[in-house]
Amino acid sequence: MLHGKLAGTYDEVLRRNPGETEFHQAVLEVLSSLEPVVVKHPQYADAEIIRRLCEPERQIIFRVPWVDDAGQVQINRGFRVEFSSALGPYKGGLRFHPSVYLGIVKFLGFEQIFKNALTGMPIGGGKGGSDFDPKGRSDGEVMRFCQAFMTELYRHIGEYTDVPAGDTGVGGREIGYLFGQYKRITNRYESGVLTGKGLSWGGSRVRTEATGYGLVFFVDEILRTRQDSFDGKRVVVSGSGNVAIYAVEKVQQLGGTVVACSDSSGYVVDEAGIDLALLREVKEERRERIAAYVEARPGAYLVTDASIWDVACDVALPCATQNELDADAATVLARNGCTVVAEGANMPCTPDAIRVLAEAGVTYAPGKAANAGGVATSALEMQQNASRDSWTFEHTEQRLAAIMSGIHERCLETAEAYGQPGDYTAGANIAGFTRVADAMLALGIV
Ligand code: NDP
Repeated sequence: MLHGKLAGTYDEVLRRNPGETEFHQAVLEVLSSLEPVVVKHPQYADAEIIRRLCEPERQIIFRVPWVDDAGQVQINRGFRVEFSSALGPYKGGLRFHPSVYLGIVKFLGFEQIFKNALTGMPIGGGKGGSDFDPKGRSDGEVMRFCQAFMTELYRHIGEYTDVPAGDTGVGGREIGYLFGQYKRITNRYESGVLTGKGLSWGGSRVRTEATGYGLVFFVDEILRTRQDSFDGKRVVVSGSGNVAIYAVEKVQQLGGTVVACSDSSGYVVDEAGIDLALLREVKEERRERIAAYVEARPGAYLVTDASIWDVACDVALPCATQNELDADAATVLARNGCTVVAEGANMPCTPDAIRVLAEAGVTYAPGKAANAGGVATSALEMQQNASRDSWTFEHTEQRLAAIMSGIHERCLETAEAYGQPGDYTAGANIAGFTRVADAMLALGIV
């Protein structure tokens, strides 16, 4: 329940952005944490910091025409929402998925402002994408789409302006095609314009692994506060894309057992522990449905008519998509003894689910904090590009682990300072917000 000026700001967001339900949800989630902040710091309200943050600095929507393998002209819609550049160039991924529309891009871009601030690094917040569906498209089609997308996007981005990366549907292959087209149009080898690049052409070690690894490092910090560890834990990870695969890998390295993972066609249970090599072969190399995992793995089984959160676990890591874990799922998780839910995906838990988890005493770590390792390592990639350097895997992974530990500490300290000890949501929202707000105060009304 929001009060006073915060309630007015939220009403204004609803009125000015009709139908953008995911954006409304993301704004409400942040505003709900800010009451103690506006009481303590009236200067933020005087400068209308929150109302300014709710309005993106720039929103770009464009036509993406391309030709498919059958010679048919296809038209998609492209987006880039440049939300806040108070702390550095806009930074945030591109999502290619049929569900993408302005409300999704704005929810992701809004979240990104606070997540990026929380890393302590010099990056602003933005997000982009398209309603293009890469699923079932040939390599040639994906390349032509990416080239058409970049033919418009290139004029809006740059090392000091806006630095996109990957997200759902945009991995190393797509970043390669996008970078190739940017280079062709501008005649500049501007490595710092995109992150998530291949290692031989300006990428950073650990960037591919960073979001999943970072998530598990964050949960490891949570467990450490209870003198506990991943050793012997049963873990369920939803999704089987970039974030999920590297979360599975790091859990296994730390001694946990991942017993289930999924894609949009269903989930697999493998009590012996997910065979990561097989999962990667099915999802990354063959780009097949998760059912192919079960065909090659005796003892594992596929479920297509229930929720992955029915599988009992100690730690649940939603790593697929927004609003995938609802109140019913949260109730079942808590009843089955789960003690930590940490978000690898952006906003995978519904507000009702978060409430249920809190009431049941399950620790909940919001994506803004728990999945910030991806963008943090993107910032490390920018650092390496700027100094024309390339760090080792070990060094980069240590940097990532230190960043995640720093974010964890910042969340707990901030939550404590604002009278909500142990509340990671309050800690993440307030710490992220105050860093951006202070920069905005310093920069004047812009
Ligand atoms: P990928 O495209 O690599 O993988 C997404 C996975 O989620 C796939 O297994 C996909 O299954 C599954 N999925 C997508 N939609 C649904 C759905 N409606 N129901 C069930 N499963 C679904 O994306 P990423 O791993 O990169 O991203 C996953 C999440 O993590 C997103 O929320 C993203 O914003 C967030 N994130 C990603 C970061 C990154 O560095 N990549 C950084 C921070 C957050 P299928 O193949 O069947 O579609």
